[in-house]
Amino acid sequence: MSDGRKNRPDTLVRRTELRSGVSRPVVTPIQPSVVYASPSIATLHAQYEGGAHGYTYAREGHPNAELLARKIDGMEGAEGGLILGSGMAAVTATIMGILGQGDHIVGGNQLYGRSLRLMHQDLARFGIATSLADPTDIDAMRAAIRPDTKMILVEVISNPTLRVADMAGIVALAKEAGVILAVDNTFTTPMGYKPLQEGADIVIHSVTKLLAGHSDVTLGYVAARDATQRRAIYDFAVTVGMTPAPQECWLAERGLYTFPLRVAQAQANAAELADWLAAHPKVARVLYPGRADHPDHRLAASLVGLAFGNMVSFELKEATEAAADRLVQAAPDLPFAPTLGDVGTTLSHPASSSHRGLTPEGRAALGISDGFFRVSVGIEDLSLLIADFEAGLAAV
Ligand SMILES: *Cc1c(COP(=O)(O)O)cnc(C)c1O
Repeated sequence: MSDGRKNRPDTLVRRTELRSGVSRPVVTPIQPSVVYASPSIATLHAQYEGGAHGYTYAREGHPNAELLARKIDGMEGAEGGLILGSGMAAVTATIMGILGQGDHIVGGNQLYGRSLRLMHQDLARFGIATSLADPTDIDAMRAAIRPDTKMILVEVISNPTLRVADMAGIVALAKEAGVILAVDNTFTTPMGYKPLQEGADIVIHSVTKLLAGHSDVTLGYVAARDATQRRAIYDFAVTVGMTPAPQECWLAERGLYTFPLRVAQAQANAAELADWLAAHPKVARVLYPGRADHPDHRLAASLVGLAFGNMVSFELKEATEAAADRLVQAAPDLPFAPTLGDVGTTLSHPASSSHRGLTPEGRAALGISDGFFRVSVGIEDLSLLIADFEAGLAAV
């Protein structure tokens, strides 16, 4: 190597350790490193064998994911939870990490759309049999259990009709049948319901929704009470690469700090908006578990206390797509978007989005007409929301 080459400035730049000094950052640093260097082979052995804590490769875990997982663990009363790249990754890793060929799973018949698709279309290809049953009807759930049933997967409050599952009955059924009970707690959040404390085995979240709260990250969370199940979920997720990005984990962590404030405000808005909609002459019915006229109001109160959530559904008297479209177009400040849990209120029309795959008869059986809307109520000043709905309904 010539002397000229040796002293080129670019050859003097290399990776070195960041100096931290005696003070520390108050805000969590984002650590994008994919790889971690160990000081010796003995240390690396200790890391893999559990004798020393240290990261190796980000697909297997990284500090921002771990910090976020520990915070959600604290909210759920869980241990060893795992952050994954999406809520669906969490649902998939739970089922496919634990179940295999010849096993059977019973799902709630109003699970999240992609969870239903996983049950209908994908699991069978891997030899996992599925059945769906109505989780508000414990006899229907019991009838779906077979000798090869290994898992039950339910949501506490269903989308979009906001029916409430018979959780006490399902917990008892799972115990009696020796079946793993997994609960997708996205809608209820740990403010309303804590599945592990109520006797479930696994809790799942789409962190994308209320936990992160700003519709700017896609993440999931899962925690199992049993260490063997925890390991199985982890290994499957790491093998198939359901890795979350450090930047996304950081944003979700930031969102968590305002989670209780956001949920309290959104819920208060939802209760008032539900009452306002119910009194509106163009509205046929309103579904909100906090209202006395909701079919599951008492069950909801016993499960979630006063945390009835931020989701409100309603149906227009003129139950046509044309009428629904006029409402959408006359309320441009209510984003017509199929998500939930954002700081801003969003409006969704299940017949054309989450439930478009069903036949009109299938939707009718769930009580979803073309005039049916689901509102994810945000934290705006209530007067702004009422003005938007007033304008929207005036156009119907
Ligand atoms: C959104 C949602 C999911 C899926 O979460 P993603 O983060 O979008 O993958 C799962 N379950 C429920 C109840 C949801 O609302």
